[in-house]
Amino acid sequence: MSLPIPETLSKEDRRSLARCHIHALICAQCGSTMLALRSDARYCSNACRQAAYRARHRQPIHFV
Ligand SMILES: [Zn+2]
Repeated sequence: MSLPIPETLSKEDRRSLARCHIHALICAQCGSTMLALRSDARYCSNACRQAAYRARHRQPIHFV
């Protein structure tokens, strides 16, 4: 799960987020800032997750 947030977070904001176990992270696909409930979340959205998955599993097509 992720939530959209402004680019900048104050120290107080980060502290209150940490208290709620919410992490400010960078999406591994599009690089945008996001909030996630899991510290190991990597993508801001399902679209980014799928794009990363497709990029990882893309195979070259061979014609015989
Ligand atoms: Zn993203």
